[in-house]
Amino acid sequence: MSDRTPLIRVLPPDLADKIAAGEVVQRPASAIKELIENSLDAGARTITVVLKDAGRSLLQVVDDGSGMGWDDALAAFGRHATSKISSAKDLERITTLGFRGEALAALSAVARIELRTRRAAEEAGTLVILDGGSPARREKTGTAPGTSIIVRDLFFNTPGRRKFLKSDRTEFRHILDTVQRAALSRPGVAFTLLSDGEELLRCPAEPMEARITSIFGNKQAATLVRMLEESDAGSISGFLGMPKFARRGRSEQYIFLNGRPIVSRNIGHAVFRAYEHLIEKGSFPFFVLFIDIDPGRTDVNVHPSKNEIKFDDEQQVYRWVNAAVRHAISSTDLGSIGAIPLDGAARGEREAGASPGSGSTWSAGAGGRGPRGPAMPSAFTALGTAAPSVSEARVDDLFRAPESERGSVPGRPQEHPGPFWQVHDKYIIIPTGDGIMIVDQHAAHERVIYETALRRMDAMEKRTQELLFPQTLELSPAEAALIGELMPLLENLGFLLKMFGRNTVILEGVPMDLRPGDETTILKDVLGLFREDDQRVRLDPRERLAKSFSCKAAVKAGDRLKESEMGTLVGRLFQTEVPYVCPHGRPVMIRLSLDELDRKFGRTS
Ligand code: ADP
Ligand code: MG
Repeated sequence: MSDRTPLIRVLPPDLADKIAAGEVVQRPASAIKELIENSLDAGARTITVVLKDAGRSLLQVVDDGSGMGWDDALAAFGRHATSKISSAKDLERITTLGFRGEALAALSAVARIELRTRRAAEEAGTLVILDGGSPARREKTGTAPGTSIIVRDLFFNTPGRRKFLKSDRTEFRHILDTVQRAALSRPGVAFTLLSDGEELLRCPAEPMEARITSIFGNKQAATLVRMLEESDAGSISGFLGMPKFARRGRSEQYIFLNGRPIVSRNIGHAVFRAYEHLIEKGSFPFFVLFIDIDPGRTDVNVHPSKNEIKFDDEQQVYRWVNAAVRHAISSTDLGSIGAIPLDGAARGEREAGASPGSGSTWSAGAGGRGPRGPAMPSAFTALGTAAPSVSEARVDDLFRAPESERGSVPGRPQEHPGPFWQVHDKYIIIPTGDGIMIVDQHAAHERVIYETALRRMDAMEKRTQELLFPQTLELSPAEAALIGELMPLLENLGFLLKMFGRNTVILEGVPMDLRPGDETTILKDVLGLFREDDQRVRLDPRERLAKSFSCKAAVKAGDRLKESEMGTLVGRLFQTEVPYVCPHGRPVMIRLSLDELDRKFGRTS
């Protein structure tokens, strides 16, 4: 071959189509996803999905949407043929699910298609038959208004792709997931799924709560808490799973951006982190989140499957979602979890005392302002966790400094009036509006110190007390390495350290507010605990350090407290973001209502 023989040639169209199709339609579930998207874009109120052999031999989507006219019915199968955008400008604000004009072209390249469609205003419908390359057939037909597309023998002409399909079960699981996500995204649309003649899903048009129940069942729906945060930037609403119902995998996380099901590690992580230590290692929270923001701030044109998103500012969105979920969780009482119905209570409409005995205030809510409901003593409602809802804070500020906007400023403790009783130098008992509350003094103090420590590390506002007699500490090589690694964090926390040689450190100052007597041991204790702390939980070092520091610096069981100290502690506790659980996930307080006490004593009135 001479050097001049050109090696590059343009692929024949049918091969190019098959290659392109592979990106859009990877398996039956992606075909279903594209077809459902088209139905939704066409304004369908009812969508029916029919399968044979998990979509392998046949899949069909029937809708009652706008339908297509005689010309469009054929034109729809052209590559880059779309009615949804017409200019580059449109691409910047996509408001439909489809816009690339690829799905029908792709499907027709790798399967046999039968389309029936009719516009309501027209008498006759159109039938189009495409057979993977052979010339199209088009004729008038009688059919209901709307569109029905049958896709037969998917990948019949791309054996490579066909081979990669998994078992029917697996393919069906993907389809079910796709249909469920679509159904969640539009509760106002009725969905039916029929597989080999069996009806496997049917939901009528219904309100969001009912749709959640239709998809996940009563039992699981009862473990969810409704949240809603609105701001100038948009809104975040959805359902959060209670921590104890966390899942092994990430698959049960449902994220919708402007009504489009998406996958996003960034957002998933923001939610996960909002649960802080409430969730066991290796588990993930279950959640359904609807994020609505200006489409101009997003780019869905990242991948042909359109389920990946780029935001103009990923960090901002991360912080926004994280703050919203955190707020929902923190205004929720984990100490008395019980199943709640997804009705008024879930929407935060329940008023104090309205449902005695349900024992649950997991009604993080619709702009909930800190602890509320019957379980919260009135004085605390005033003190509250006073976290302004996202809607109150200017969103831009919130993005910049989500924490500093919060009302919790442990540096300025507010006393709680009391009275307080300390029992066994371990627990604090406090009368509340409708019963009593028992606080674990160590766990409470841990929570307070933990949040202060995090804030100090973030804000880099050192608060150091210098030691009168600097301490020389001998370190193991592992400890020395750890100190090297954590030095900036330790310094922000308030430690004043100088390395002296390889394995010696001189401790010149320690964080403020340590218990007297702890100054010399605290560093080694914290390092020890830091290393013990389970490595499997991938907390960032900052959080791990705050966790070990709070554990070591907090008052212990056995420490006698003065009433004023209890008052300060409880006051500060209720200024934290998550007063109900310690950084290790244990409850900080338990409540007993008068109702419960009366019941235990057999009182009837
Ligand atoms: P896209 O959805 O990106 O526009 P598709 O290839 O999925 O591209 O569809 C091409 C066009 O066919 C759409 O823009 C729409 O005009 C039309 N179409 C497809 N499905 C339907 C449907 N179910 N009802 C009405 N029109 C449809
Ligand atoms: Mg489409």
